[in-house]
Amino acid sequence: MKTLATIAAELQGYDPQALSVSGVNTFMSRLVEPVTAQETVGIFQALGRVLAQDVISPISVPAHDNSAMDGYAFDAAQLKPGVALTLTVAGTLRAGAGWPHRVEPGQCIKIMTGAIMPSGLDTVVPQELVTSDGPNIAIAAGLLRAGDNRRQLGEDLMQGQPALRQGQLLTPAALGLLASLGIEQVAVWRKLRVAYFSTGDEILSLGQPPREGAVYDSNRYTVFGLLSRLGCEVIDMGVVRDEPALLEAAFTQAALQTDAIITSGGVSVGEADYTKLMMKKLGDVAFWKIAMRPGRPMAVGRIGNAVLFGLPGNPVAVMVTFLAFVRPALLQMMGSTATAPPLLKARSLEALRKKPGRTEYQRGTVSTGADGSLQVRTTGNQGSGVLSSMVQANGLIVLAHKQGDVAAGDLVNIMMFEGVI
Ligand code: AMP
Ligand code: MG
Repeated sequence: MKTLATIAAELQGYDPQALSVSGVNTFMSRLVEPVTAQETVGIFQALGRVLAQDVISPISVPAHDNSAMDGYAFDAAQLKPGVALTLTVAGTLRAGAGWPHRVEPGQCIKIMTGAIMPSGLDTVVPQELVTSDGPNIAIAAGLLRAGDNRRQLGEDLMQGQPALRQGQLLTPAALGLLASLGIEQVAVWRKLRVAYFSTGDEILSLGQPPREGAVYDSNRYTVFGLLSRLGCEVIDMGVVRDEPALLEAAFTQAALQTDAIITSGGVSVGEADYTKLMMKKLGDVAFWKIAMRPGRPMAVGRIGNAVLFGLPGNPVAVMVTFLAFVRPALLQMMGSTATAPPLLKARSLEALRKKPGRTEYQRGTVSTGADGSLQVRTTGNQGSGVLSSMVQANGLIVLAHKQGDVAAGDLVNIMMFEGVI
């Protein structure tokens, strides 16, 4: 495990008072380490987990050449340019069955989708494309080429080849693929354990009566949801009041047997409270000013063996910093090799003010325009406390560090929420 000072010394131009978004991600990727323990789970428990070993295909899929259509299997060597081909139907073959007999020249076999191709036959004519006359069918000239409508042995997966790689996040498609190989159990990395709490004397827990100047804690619920979607084991530690003894107890307890601690609030420059003091006292922690909006202040480091993500207090800033920094870091800790989903381009329906020298994340509603291309509109008030904007939006408009103002009609980068939050 590297200390923060070691990582800082490795990075060129590291300045905790003015870090770029990409600088933060570089730092984080050096701070966190993937878990090393693995466990074996059944296929239903494997959804959302990360493969700890390559999966080598024990069989070929499909195991035989087979028909991709309901139709007639025949030997395409009999096709002659410009001439229709007439064949006699010698029998019928169902899905999963084979044809034990020889098929003579001039014959074909009526075949269902998935049935094994009889030996010597290489092509299937779909049944709707033939004309039939008693026991015979005719295939018009120029309709087919050899090999049409035949699935090849191993065209999906070949026996002995890696079907899935270590680090693969097990999606519904990956579960189906495992099942297609007859695999019921897989080795996955253990789940991450993540503790989180909110700080601030003005923060109310649900169930407490409202009082003037106080706000209900929303961050714990967004963080809970974001972590759960990532497949982490979560430990909710509630709201911790701004008292040294309470904060010390919370940080100490959170660091026991967890991989990460996420807090919100108490890390901005003007904060008079004890959160930062306690982080500094108990861990190896840096306090950053990040060139971004929302989400400027953040604390990062380690308390015991747990990575600390000290997020700002504002509800939108919590979500944006989670998506920009915490999520990629946790995926790395989970052993996932998934890379960030690609940004899409959409036409901005309005002019946007943007200061060069920081990355801005505006909440956007992306839709399909009349010409079929993507367009985006902001959700209005972009205040970092306006959580309704995150609910209304279906993506973030990501305005790059160097970029200036955006004119209506310009293309902007979009990070879609689908599959992420
Ligand atoms: P701070 O970073 O502690 O200065 O907080 C910035 C703003 O976010 C303040 O208006 C806080 O009241 C608000 N805030 C902090 N924590 C939470 C929370 N858990 N839920 C909702 N709002 C919060
Ligand atoms: Mg505060």
